Amino acid sequence: MISVDEAQKIIAEKTSPLGTEQVCLEESLGRVLCEQIVADTDQPPFDRSAMDGYAIRSDDASENFKIVTIIQAGDVPTIFLQPGECARIFTGAQIPKNGEIVIRQEDTHVTDQLMHVTARADKTHIRKQGEEVKAGAVLINPGQILRPIDLSVMAGVGHTQVKVSSKPRILHLSSGNELVAPDLAPGPGQIRDSNSILIKLLVEQAGSKIVGHLHAGDHLEEIIQAARSFTQPYDILLFSGGASVGDFDYAATTLEQLGFTIHFRQVNVRPGKPLIFATKDRQIAFGLPGNPVSHFVTFHLFVQTAMRKLHNLNPFCEWHSGILNAGLNEPPNSRETYWPTSFGGSDHEWGLLPFHLQSSGHLTSLLRVNALIKIPANSPPLIKGQVVTFLRV
Ligand code: AMP
Ligand code: MG
Repeated sequence: MISVDEAQKIIAEKTSPLGTEQVCLEESLGRVLCEQIVADTDQPPFDRSAMDGYAIRSDDASENFKIVTIIQAGDVPTIFLQPGECARIFTGAQIPKNGEIVIRQEDTHVTDQLMHVTARADKTHIRKQGEEVKAGAVLINPGQILRPIDLSVMAGVGHTQVKVSSKPRILHLSSGNELVAPDLAPGPGQIRDSNSILIKLLVEQAGSKIVGHLHAGDHLEEIIQAARSFTQPYDILLFSGGASVGDFDYAATTLEQLGFTIHFRQVNVRPGKPLIFATKDRQIAFGLPGNPVSHFVTFHLFVQTAMRKLHNLNPFCEWHSGILNAGLNEPPNSRETYWPTSFGGSDHEWGLLPFHLQSSGHLTSLLRVNALIKIPANSPPLIKGQVVTFLRV
């Protein structure tokens, strides 16, 4: 059976990045940037006042100044100040050519057209042209997942059409005779489908979109017919449930009948051992085990790898290390294990609290989980204070 590392390598190798598209600035939030953003001009683009006050010459030691002009934000001053003269100026307004100091309004006293300086700060209160960034400076690099602040910076430099990676299109197919929609009351032997909403939201959070959601009972013909009835293009087929080796587990057979080549059917991981990965030309498919915790873990370990590769990002997980705040008395297991935990603290010292987990079927045990601890195969029980590797989820 292959390891998690080997499985991730195969997924990364068999998945090809999607292309790029141009979207308007407002639509670029959460997308993966595929170009460099540079400053179109110096920032600030001209010397401007950082305060409401009075601009004077730096060589003028006078205490009283005649107010000879008013400069508002947006004005283009033409005045050349003489000794004993000042310009009334406001925050953001362009500094006159030789107005090298701004005296804050709070440090003045004004009568008629005369400004009297009551205090001189050792600052000029001027934001110099280019002090923030110079024209041509690189502001944002490709690969950035765009946040509101990135959009604001792009707006500031007039970058209103943004090159981003195309969104992976996901077809989700869930199977199981026992499943009913969340708004229905389950009959005897039935449970509500809680995986579909999870998959939909995790997919969206990862910058992809669900283009179709299908459900079929555990009958091969019904599943294949459902999959074939979907004629729109998609990049990833996520098949939930039926990935194992039971008599009514049809994920692998379905994928084969749809023309996919299966690369592996099992990974040496706990939870999530029955995990199918297949490809058909540029399309990829996963058969995910239906148990909610397995579903969650395999999504983060394997589906995310493929989605990052589709976005042309580094496909591999970003690992962190932290210190266990409590021990975990689990006997050694021959499978690499991903243990639900909560982490807190800071980059300098993450603290982790592993949760008690009885079964990979217990959905509610994930409620307080924000990380998975990686426990190598055959590890002895973990002890309090031990340094462990973890994945944020
Ligand atoms: P399977 O992977 O189909 O063998 O299912 C394993 C377990 O997960 C079974 O107990 C299923 O009832 C449960 N399960 C499968 N699909 C879902 C789903 N969409 N929502 C909640 N539980 C599920
Ligand atoms: Mg099933």
